[in-house]
Amino acid sequence: MNQEEEAAFERERLRMVEEQLRRRGIREPRLLQAMLKVPRHRFVPPEHRHLAYVDGPLPIGAGQTISQPYIVALMTQLLLLQGNETVLEVGTGSGYQAAILAELAREVHTIERHAELAERAKLILQELGYQNIRVHVGDGSLGLPEFAPYQAIIVTAAAPKAPPALLEQLDEGGRLVIPVGGQWGQMLERWTRHGAQYEQEEFVPVAFVPLRGEAGWKDERWEWD
Ligand code: SAM
Repeated sequence: MNQEEEAAFERERLRMVEEQLRRRGIREPRLLQAMLKVPRHRFVPPEHRHLAYVDGPLPIGAGQTISQPYIVALMTQLLLLQGNETVLEVGTGSGYQAAILAELAREVHTIERHAELAERAKLILQELGYQNIRVHVGDGSLGLPEFAPYQAIIVTAAAPKAPPALLEQLDEGGRLVIPVGGQWGQMLERWTRHGAQYEQEEFVPVAFVPLRGEAGWKDERWEWD
């Protein structure tokens, strides 16, 4: 990509932040800064790259998507990151959300069930110089106990309910942000741990691809391919 193309993408990114995020109420300065910095177009496959900054999700292969910028920002905002957290992301996909998290937290573990998506994400994140992200391949519906507890967990695929393993791997005061629901729509939920109790809040309706695996959707009719 030449300098002119990079500059054009940068202008589009600025417009994305103003029109899609700030105007819709995303106000946290560190988050807006991260959304302004991370080159979303690098995470989008070449055939869709010209659409990288549009107000919606885009296909990334394997029947999966990179989420809409506003939803990435909203979910990140709900995690209440201060800068010193260990974060788990379930559903690496393109790696874009992981990069945003890495700008705002100390360390990010991200897990993806499709090895080819994980490989591609890892490569892009390496090219961009991220050293605080570890990409794992596996069933993230069971979490990643080796690196628990997490002060924040984000699930970027729709679950039938908040997976027990993820609730267990939350640190005291930790937050889990997750879309819960089925094929026809889901609700964005936040679970906050207080000892053995969890506070549950509901935010906005969303539309995600399904979470698969042990604690995910089993119904194979809910496919995007
Ligand atoms: N966060 C991604 C990004 O920034 O591009 C978008 C993720 S996409 C909406 C959801 C991802 O979750 C898909 O890549 C899918 O393969 C993955 N996924 C679904 N079930 C999973 C599971 N049990 N463990 C790990 N990844 C899973």
